[in-house]
Amino acid sequence: MMASLKYKGICKHYDNNMIAVKSFDLEVNDHEFLVLVGPSGCGKSTMLRMTAGLEKISEGELYIGDRRVNDVPAKERDIAMVFQSYALYPQMSVYDNMAFGLSLRKTPQKEIDKRVNEVAQILDIAHLLKRKPKTLSGGQRQRVALGRAIVREPQVFLMDEPLSNIDAQLRVQMRAEISKLQRKLGVTTIYVTHDQTEALTMGDRIVVMRHGMIQQVASPIELYQSPANLFVAGFIGSPMMNLLEGELSEQNGELYFQHQSFRMEIPRQNAAYIIRESVVNRKVILGIRPENIQVYLQPEQDTIVGNIELVENLGSEMYLYLRGISDRPLVARVTQNVAFSMGTSVNIAFTPESFHLFDQETEKNLLL
Ligand code: ADP
Repeated sequence: MMASLKYKGICKHYDNNMIAVKSFDLEVNDHEFLVLVGPSGCGKSTMLRMTAGLEKISEGELYIGDRRVNDVPAKERDIAMVFQSYALYPQMSVYDNMAFGLSLRKTPQKEIDKRVNEVAQILDIAHLLKRKPKTLSGGQRQRVALGRAIVREPQVFLMDEPLSNIDAQLRVQMRAEISKLQRKLGVTTIYVTHDQTEALTMGDRIVVMRHGMIQQVASPIELYQSPANLFVAGFIGSPMMNLLEGELSEQNGELYFQHQSFRMEIPRQNAAYIIRESVVNRKVILGIRPENIQVYLQPEQDTIVGNIELVENLGSEMYLYLRGISDRPLVARVTQNVAFSMGTSVNIAFTPESFHLFDQETEKNLLL
């Protein structure tokens, strides 16, 4: 009943010569929860709408299962879509909203009743079935919208920023609920969001897009640990990865990253690779995640001096904004129970094993 999807060289140009998607190639596995993420305007919704059949595919081929669907109308694609706006019918009850799609398909009333009640149980909205949408909270409305998609038992779910109209706390809860539900139902799902946290927490795999092009397709952990390029490195992770411009140099068989204010040895394992690939003397960008920066009050071996410009205390951890090393402040995430305060001079160390290195020109990750 469920399905895989295959995108082969999909392109979309709009009438105004706007190229929204460029040669999109991807296979989505049966049962998979795939997230499309990227900044506004990168082509996510366009991809989803082409998949649903709401937008024509300009070039390339789309398969659902082994059926080519380029010319199959939306209502025959066996896809259910959930929008950010919920798009519920205001004059209908929750029950009728959920039943509507099934009635249109001439599903027998008994079967409709069974499915609506089952799904309402799963979503914990059984007590709301007689109500009208306007009497519901945002979270309840979103559940109804999900319920309406689920009762149809489609081959594929498409979700376009379904949580962006919900307040922060409920959003975290709904995020977990949708993930659990998708795993339970096992329906292949493509989920669009601009929020990298949502992508990391929900997706089996994540597709990072920019300017209509795929930047990387990977599991959340792989994206975080091995971003393919500078854009992915900066986009995934919060606070953002620190990026420092500098040059590589070699001395006595050791490799160094030379920054305007310090020199740092590149661990031997990475160095060997870089020397082999002859990228020595290239202009590079060193990437270091906030949790890989250590901050001490006393000088330690190989520490560099900085100054705390700002402290953001989140209770379980602190973000320290450090001046004096680079043009922009470095952000360190520390969990030590030390009373760091603004204006304090501190000693900073990096975990070299966690370095990321990007070519300044190509922006590619040099260590992959
Ligand atoms: P996202 O969902 O990632 O924010 P979209 O897929 O909505 O991005 O848009 C991708 C690009 O295509 C944007 O530059 C947008 O302005 C453009 N675009 C979207 N829809 C249309 C349209 N109907 N006509 C012309 N250009 C469009």
